Amino acid sequence: MINKEIKKHFPILNQEINGHPLVYLDSAATSQKPVQVIEAMKAYYELDNSNVHRGVHTLGNRATEKYEGAREKVRNFINARSTEEVIFLRGTTTAINLVAQSYGRANVEEGDEIVITYMEHHSNIIPWQQLAKERGAVLKYIELEEDGTISLEQVRAAITERTKIVSMVYVSNVLGTMNPVKEVAEIAHQHGAVMVVDGAQAAPHLKIDVQELNCDFFAFSGHKMVGPTGIGVLYGKKELLNAMEPVEFGGEMIDFVGLYDSTWKELPWKFEGGTPIIAGAVGLGAAIDFLTEVGLNNIERHEHEMAAYAMDRMSTIEGLNIYGPADPEQRAGIVTFNLDGVHPHDLATVLDMHGVAVRAGHHCAQPLMKWLDVTATARASFYLYNSEADVDRLVDGLRIAKEYFKDVF
Ligand code: PLP
Repeated sequence: MINKEIKKHFPILNQEINGHPLVYLDSAATSQKPVQVIEAMKAYYELDNSNVHRGVHTLGNRATEKYEGAREKVRNFINARSTEEVIFLRGTTTAINLVAQSYGRANVEEGDEIVITYMEHHSNIIPWQQLAKERGAVLKYIELEEDGTISLEQVRAAITERTKIVSMVYVSNVLGTMNPVKEVAEIAHQHGAVMVVDGAQAAPHLKIDVQELNCDFFAFSGHKMVGPTGIGVLYGKKELLNAMEPVEFGGEMIDFVGLYDSTWKELPWKFEGGTPIIAGAVGLGAAIDFLTEVGLNNIERHEHEMAAYAMDRMSTIEGLNIYGPADPEQRAGIVTFNLDGVHPHDLATVLDMHGVAVRAGHHCAQPLMKWLDVTATARASFYLYNSEADVDRLVDGLRIAKEYFKDVF
C-alpha cells in the first residue's frame, strides 16, 4: 500500500528549498529515484562493471547477466511475449524515432496517411512530420473533445484505408487524459495500419499489458518511472521488428562484417548498436522491482485520489482554470492550470520560493497549447511519493502567489 513511509525511500525529497521542505510536483518531467535504484547502480559499478556480450571473463559475464536480466524484468513488466521484443534505447524519443525511420520509411508511401492527435508530446509529432515530408505522406490529426478527451467517433473519422500508422499518447503529459489506446489499436488494425503507443506517462502509473492492448509498438522512458535517465524501451511485435532494418550501425549489432557488406545480429540486439546503457538497464530493473512491489494498481489508485483531491482543493481558488477531463478517474496524477492574470512562469517562481516545484511552459506540446488557446500553463504532477499534505502546500502557495500578484499589478 502507499503511505507516508514510501517517501523515505527517496533521499532527495528530504531537503529544504528556499527555507521550506521540498514538495516535488514535477514527476511528469522526471521522477525522483529511490535508494534501491541508486544502490543497484552503485553496486553494479563497484562490483560488476564490464562490457557486455563479448567478455569471456567473469566480470563480462556478470555484466551481461545483469543487462539481460533487466530485459527479462521489462518483458515481464509489460507482458511482452519474448525478450526479443524488448529493445533498450535512450528513451521514448529515440524509440519513436526508430519506428518512424525504420518501419515508417519502409512502409509509408506517397499519399499514405499517418494519424496522430492534438495532445501529443513533440516526440510523437516531429518524427512523423519528418517522415511525412520525406515520403510525401499526409499527417492527420484526430480532433479532441472539448474536455480534452478522445472519442472513438473522431478516431473512426480520421483513420482510412490510406492510413499506415496511428500513433497516440496513452496518458497525456499535459491534460492527464488516459486514452482508449486498445480500442484505437483495434480500429487501426481494421484498416491495416499499425498502432504505436507513446507510453512515457503511462508506464510509470498504470499496469501495462502490451498483449492485451494489442499495440504494435510501445515506447517508454526509465527516468519517469523511478529509474535512471538515459535508458528507455521500445517494445515491438516480433514479426514487425524482424522485418525492420536497423538505423544505427556499428559494434554490438553485427553478425558478420565484410569489406563491402555486413549482416546483423538477431533480435533484439540488431537495434542496439554500440556499447549499451548497461548501468541504466540495471537501474531500470531495480525501478521495476520497486514499482512492482508497491503495485501498479495501487499507484494508479493513488494518482486518481491525488488528482481528485488536488482538483477539489484548487477549485476553491478564484480565477484558477484547470485543463483536461473534469472526472479525476479519467486522468492520471497530472493537473495543468492557469491563474488569471499571472504568467505560469511567474507562478512557478513564487511556488519555488515556497519550496514547491511545478513545471511551467508549453510542456513540449505546442500544438496542444494552440488547441487550448494558451501560450503556456503551469503543471503539478503527482507520483507515489506525494501526499495530500503536498497538495495542501501547493494550494497554500497558489494563494500566496495570488495575493502577491494582486499587489504587483
Ligand atoms: N511523450 C510524452 C507523453 C512525454 O511526457 C515525454 C517526456 O516528457 C516524452 C514523450 C519524451 O520522453 P523522453 O524525453 O524521455 O524521450
